[in-house]
Amino acid sequence: MMQEILKIAIQKSGRLYDDSVQLLRECGIDLRNVKDRLRTVSENFPIEVFFLRDDDIPEYVEDGVADVGIVGQNVLLEKGRSIREVEALGFGKCRLSLAVPKSFDYQNLQSLQGKRIATSYPKILGTYLKKNAIEASIHEISGSVEIAPGIGLADAAADLVSSGGTLFMNGLKEVEVILDSQAVLVAGNTIGNEKQDILNKLLFRIRSVRKAKKSKYVLMNVPNGQLQDVLQLLPGMRSPTVLPLAETGWSSVHSVLDEDEFWIRIEQLKAAGAEGILVVPIEKLIL
Ligand code: ATP
Ligand code: ZN
Repeated sequence: MMQEILKIAIQKSGRLYDDSVQLLRECGIDLRNVKDRLRTVSENFPIEVFFLRDDDIPEYVEDGVADVGIVGQNVLLEKGRSIREVEALGFGKCRLSLAVPKSFDYQNLQSLQGKRIATSYPKILGTYLKKNAIEASIHEISGSVEIAPGIGLADAAADLVSSGGTLFMNGLKEVEVILDSQAVLVAGNTIGNEKQDILNKLLFRIRSVRKAKKSKYVLMNVPNGQLQDVLQLLPGMRSPTVLPLAETGWSSVHSVLDEDEFWIRIEQLKAAGAEGILVVPIEKLIL
């Protein structure tokens, strides 16, 4: 019997391409000759990668041409295909925001009543305006939405923003966030058992890689007298590792710290008597 293969669609080029390829590689999936290819099969994992325009990915996944895909939540929502979000991936972060010219006297959403808004996201914008009882006309344009107000095509724009630099350069100010977005793994609603097994393996690897990125391995020397104070500060996976040092009266303590609380913990550890704190990145974290 032929072995099943999971078909994954990722962006061919653009903002999600590098991170998508890197994520698969960090999951230990060999991908050779990815440049200028339409598709490639991994040598060491049952996966085939399709390189497509991000806008087309939801449709391909819905139709089963690909089993899974990586797209921004903005594209997932706008396309409204019957596919599901399986996992948030933590990259491609941006927001879909409303922006108006700097000179526009913006008070609140009511200021957009009866105005013309340019966007590439008519569906998401339409839903948002309806929910907020704003009657405005939506002008769908496929690119360079940020120049529309400046050339008189619209009074406002709803566009993707990350730093806000592009808006600023076009004389606009961001006034409302419609949607916070990031890249997600999406899957079709019907997926065979064997493919689901491959997807589960892939998900397990993705989660391990992402958890590792959020964690640091720390080693430190602690006088035995202060050991209890130091240990209280450490979560560890089960509990911290404690090893005697060659020098009597001292121990080496090893633990895993979360990125979010990292600096606070390090300060507390120092204050509690830890010395020679060594911080090491973790490549994979299997729980
Ligand atoms: P394609 O040729 O595949 O259609 P595109 O021009 O539509 O590419 P990109 O500009 O590469 O798309 O953006 C892809 C995705 O990256 C967006 O849909 C969004 O989810 C995410 N993204 C992150 N930051 C930004 C940003 N500042 N502007 C636009 N998109 C962003
Ligand atoms: Zn696109």
